[in-house]
Amino acid sequence: MSGALEGSVAVVTGGSRGIGRGIAEALAGAGARVAVVARGESGAVATAGELPGSGHAGFACDVSDGEAVAATVGAIEEQLGPIAILINNAGVTRDNILLRLKNDDWDQVIDINLKGAFNFIRAVTRGMMKRREGAIVNVSSVVGLMGNAGQANYAASKAGLHGLTKSVARELASRGVRCNAIAPGYIRTDMTAELSEEQTSALADQIPLGRLGEVDDIAGVVRFLVGPEARYITGQVLAVDGGMVM
Ligand code: NAP
Repeated sequence: MSGALEGSVAVVTGGSRGIGRGIAEALAGAGARVAVVARGESGAVATAGELPGSGHAGFACDVSDGEAVAATVGAIEEQLGPIAILINNAGVTRDNILLRLKNDDWDQVIDINLKGAFNFIRAVTRGMMKRREGAIVNVSSVVGLMGNAGQANYAASKAGLHGLTKSVARELASRGVRCNAIAPGYIRTDMTAELSEEQTSALADQIPLGRLGEVDDIAGVVRFLVGPEARYITGQVLAVDGGMVM
């Protein structure tokens, strides 16, 4: 697989930790020059410096801020070159039952998880369309397919990503740009670190493959979706969840 993305510039939002970091490593391992984006500059820069290969860079940007995103895309293209691959992975949770969910909890999750992806897609697509080359993957969640008690805001943001993915896929297919989503199940990262051993084993019991996922279980699928072997795949939402949703 090494070399399949040689020379391509890839952006990974939320690339400093967790799933995003794993995706950044997988894309860099396949030859891409990766722009790691996160709110925290030190995390983004440190991760970029630890990726395999060379030519990577870290950028501080809050994906929910449209102007900051446009400026960051300009800076990435100036430093690394034209963007061919975009992974919208930055995401947060602000969980609570409906009656306790605050307006801010709703707004923040929608602004980061859904509008953040829109901001980056809008900022990169003009260039992708001109070059007739682009692959976008939005990192959703099985919760966007199933819903989840206590996560109305998060589930809505992820279900929204599915509509965004399919609309972008339809709009840009004729311009050589593909757009897909992956819906991970429960993956071991900071986001799921709060789960107790008891909760983890209860979850594993509901997963046909019998375990929580690892970052690498997701990263390899994303590398496939943006690579040449997936050239005939667009507009799909692929669950990578050990069989939770089928
Ligand atoms: P994580 O470990 O909490 O990491 C989140 C990443 O996003 C960090 O790099 C963080 O860096 C960045 N980030 C957060 N808010 C941001 C913002 N406003 N602007 C830019 N970057 C931001 O999360 P994860 O578990 O790897 O999850 C990654 C994605 O997978 C998310 O979209 C999540 O919803 C999805 N997912 C995760 C699971 C799971 O079980 N872990 C399951 C399904 C889906 P900074 O804090 O420096 O900004």
